[in-house]
Amino acid sequence: MNPCDLKITDIRTADINGLPKHMILLKVYTNAGIVGYGEVRDASSATYAKMLKGRLLGANPLNVDKLFNRIKQFGGHSRQGGGVSGIEIALWDIVGKFYGIPVYQLLGGQYRDRVRVYCDTDVDGKHTGHDMGLALKARMDAGFTYLKMDLGIEMLYDEPGALNAPLGMLEEMQKYSMKAICHQSGSIDKSLMFGKNYELFTIPHHATGIHVTEHGLDILEDYVRQVRDVIGYEVPLAIDHFGHVAIEDAIRFGRRMEKYNIAWMEDVSPWTIPERLTKFTQNCCVPLCTGEDIYLAENYEPILRAGINVVHPDLLTIGGLGETKKLGDLCEKYGTAIALHMAESPIAFMAAVHMAAALKNVLAVEFHSVDHPEWMELVNPHISIKDGFMEVPSAPGLGIESLNEDLIKQFHKTDCPEPWADTSAWDGEWANDRIWS
Ligand SMILES: [Mg+2]
Repeated sequence: MNPCDLKITDIRTADINGLPKHMILLKVYTNAGIVGYGEVRDASSATYAKMLKGRLLGANPLNVDKLFNRIKQFGGHSRQGGGVSGIEIALWDIVGKFYGIPVYQLLGGQYRDRVRVYCDTDVDGKHTGHDMGLALKARMDAGFTYLKMDLGIEMLYDEPGALNAPLGMLEEMQKYSMKAICHQSGSIDKSLMFGKNYELFTIPHHATGIHVTEHGLDILEDYVRQVRDVIGYEVPLAIDHFGHVAIEDAIRFGRRMEKYNIAWMEDVSPWTIPERLTKFTQNCCVPLCTGEDIYLAENYEPILRAGINVVHPDLLTIGGLGETKKLGDLCEKYGTAIALHMAESPIAFMAAVHMAAALKNVLAVEFHSVDHPEWMELVNPHISIKDGFMEVPSAPGLGIESLNEDLIKQFHKTDCPEPWADTSAWDGEWANDRIWS
């Protein structure tokens, strides 16, 4: 087919759950029989993609930049970026499949032919640092070369004298949202998104009034010492989900962490207030990482200027591959390393792998589903992470030949429409789409 005749004919989605998160797979169909794969950000809504369908039907999917600029205004930070990002990735997949070349080649070529994968490890059931150390050691025995664990103030809740807060606040947090402000493994609990839960866990770090006592810091430090006693000091270890406490408390904890060679502390303060990030980086020698909730490369400049050490874009929030490439160039200017946040399906993972292959200074791609072997089989060929690395495929597009439709049916999120259900209700969606007059 002449490239000029290619057209988008349909956009459909499939919601799955249990591997472990809610993931929203996306297909962009064309009149050439080529289907592009994309994905909406984890724990989000297919609506963010479907609302764009009427704006894209009949357009030529090879014009990625032109279409991205058509829909860019409908993206936003965090989950709101999911629809625009997912479609952008599917368009690149179509371009690659149409011309028979891998996506990394479209992004400028390879810096590496295999990509380091870093492994997330949540805190559930790991009540001592020794237990967490053993869990991380098992990751290392499986070949992983870069580790991350959750560690936050929820560990201290039952310990007398470890947390200081307005009296009654901790009880209220525990009753409603303690888990939500610290960490959530698996799917997000819908009930946390409404009522008192939502009110509590959307109180920003600086306004909860919760502080960690010296006794609390002793406990957390001892936990990390026990972890290091098991895994040794050679392997990088990052820490996430410290909790909603003031930046001063994160700094006090960070200073305690300096001697444990922490790869980074993640999201210790809302990214929206760069001055707080600067305060951390200027008062503590543990590297600071943030950025998974920022839409568009241009919106990263304030946090890069604030001096963060590791930037952590999610391809399904930032706007897809093109915006991540732009961010990579910005990071060269500011001297910031990149780790790719990834908590979604193998579609997002393969997009991140191609991106990491094409970025100059990238540490690793995140992987959340190491305890869910079916995750690897959601796509054909299956994902195969060997010795902590993913080989970059040279097959066209994202390198995904097909999706495993049986598994998609098996893990269908039951409160969502059937996988790949008809979306023609969105065909006529439009508005006076302009942001200036
Ligand atoms: Mg995180």
